[in-house]
Amino acid sequence: MNAIDSSMGDNPASSVAIPSSVSALLAEETTIDPLSPLPSFLELMLVDATTSSGRAALSAALDATASSAATSAVAYRDGWKGRFLLAVARLGRRYRAEILLILTYAIERSCLHSKSICATASESVYSLKRSKLYPMTSSDGAGSSTTAYRSLARLPTHDKTRVALIASLGPYLKDRLDTWYQNARTREQMGMNEQEFFSQQQQQQQPLSPGSFDWRLQRKRTMEKIRSLFVLVYPYLHMTHEGTIVFYQWSYLVGRSVFYSPSLHALGMIIRRVTMADIQTQNNTKSLVQSSKELSKPKIEDAMKAARKLAGYGLVAAVMIGWASNIRTELHRRRQQWINESVSSQINNRAPNISLPVNSGAGIAVPPPQPPKVMLSANTPIQSLPLNKALCPLCRQTRVNPVASTSGYVFCYRCLVLYVRDHGTCPLTGLPCPESKLVRVYETEQEHDQ
Ligand SMILES: [Zn+2]
Repeated sequence: MNAIDSSMGDNPASSVAIPSSVSALLAEETTIDPLSPLPSFLELMLVDATTSSGRAALSAALDATASSAATSAVAYRDGWKGRFLLAVARLGRRYRAEILLILTYAIERSCLHSKSICATASESVYSLKRSKLYPMTSSDGAGSSTTAYRSLARLPTHDKTRVALIASLGPYLKDRLDTWYQNARTREQMGMNEQEFFSQQQQQQQPLSPGSFDWRLQRKRTMEKIRSLFVLVYPYLHMTHEGTIVFYQWSYLVGRSVFYSPSLHALGMIIRRVTMADIQTQNNTKSLVQSSKELSKPKIEDAMKAARKLAGYGLVAAVMIGWASNIRTELHRRRQQWINESVSSQINNRAPNISLPVNSGAGIAVPPPQPPKVMLSANTPIQSLPLNKALCPLCRQTRVNPVASTSGYVFCYRCLVLYVRDHGTCPLTGLPCPESKLVRVYETEQEHDQ
């Protein structure tokens, strides 16, 4: 049983303090057993659950932001804004795990560093804190007998950074290894038959000399060996890791250990409840900071703090805007879909046999109607259609003042008018085409150049 000297170091103001706020009053009341300074097993399990659900929420927010960027990129089409949003969406999807790692690190770090009570984000929700446990020895008198004891202290700055790194990097690496293992295993299972086949062939072959042209094959085989080794070893590693965690939790539950997890043991930290004195000192430092702010002029530190705060608010705002725009685009899509459905149902009601193309405007491709059949005969001046669609079928030159016949084919105005005055039909389809029904075609510059 480890003895914890809770009166050492951590509580500078050990004199009985009068609770100044309601939260301070309640903090004292919530302590189930005033003699046990450690939080219960259930509390720490809740902390773990909060951490994982917080990660899940952050990941979902990232997903929502990426997809909303992708949907708004469609609205901008080819502009630089669209390209930028598309790049953001792609980056967000591709490096989601890495972005999550950076965000969780930033959050944990700011939580650990900013307050006078050192705790990760989810620990501070349950008003818990971390303290460093130092092993100490004191020799009494002549040094004949040394007694070992431990002392508690606030976390040093480098330990805070370490905690933030472990809290963010641990789950990231775990996720990565799990996905690698899954991929490697499926590949292993798929390539099993192939491997068996090749291994039979390999025995007959000579061993490859280094530097031969088959070095690529050799490297591939080495990679495969490493992969199969990883597939073989990883379940055991995973089991050991989980087993160690369960062992630590069990030890904590039955009161054999003060460390809830192996990482806490390695860091020499314990998680404990926030004490009255902590709240008192926090309030004191707050008022001290406020008074010093009033006295002194703003410094670089203040500016840094303000910038960090602004970045935090910016992050929250970005997440909120992402969600809002996602909902807005979803609503827009639903509305458009509803309108399309009602329009098409109206058309179907009016003429059930003919399905007219509906230009939805929402990016849904509508096939154009089939062109009328071309009827080339000996008495028409056109023997074949020009391969280049930009040319006039009559004069086989680049069209001048393009005009469409009633059939929809485009000619020069001069060519078509002269033909129609003589024949009264479209030169390609032979369908009736009076001069009054010719349609002027306004081509854009780009189309004309083609
Ligand atoms: Zn022409």
